[in-house]
Amino acid sequence: TVGAVALDINGNLAAATSTGGMTNKLVGRVGDSPIVGSGVYANNKTVAVSTTGTGEMFIRSVASYTVSAMMEFGGYSLEKAAHETIFTKLTEIDGDGGLIAIDRDGNFTMPFNTEGMYRGYIQEKDKPNAFLYGPN
Ligand code: ASP
Repeated sequence: TVGAVALDINGNLAAATSTGGMTNKLVGRVGDSPIVGSGVYANNKTVAVSTTGTGEMFIRSVASYTVSAMMEFGGYSLEKAAHETIFTKLTEIDGDGGLIAIDRDGNFTMPFNTEGMYRGYIQEKDKPNAFLYGPN
């Protein structure tokens, strides 16, 4: 997967997800990546989310929308909503993977329940900075 989430200076949130799909997938399989609410979701009221992992489980858990709904209707912080989605909702149905997400205030998080997930961020507003993390 290559995924990206962004917040612009006007408060717009955006998310994108691209993937080659799971290794040895069946012909015709559609994973979660192109499905809004599963592999990708953005809402200016709450959060932008991009996911990676076993797509079927991200579809079943409607993972990226779930993060947003927890924030909008449950009053969860981004951190708590994303953590709950990966470590409770996804994990309890044996889903593997992770997500990257940024909220309307510029908070971001990158939880995953797998051995590794390459991830990084660029922060331009206050402190110009770029960070890239290895798989762990
Ligand atoms: N989520 C993708 C899929 O299930 C796989 C990936 O992480 O790239 O198709």
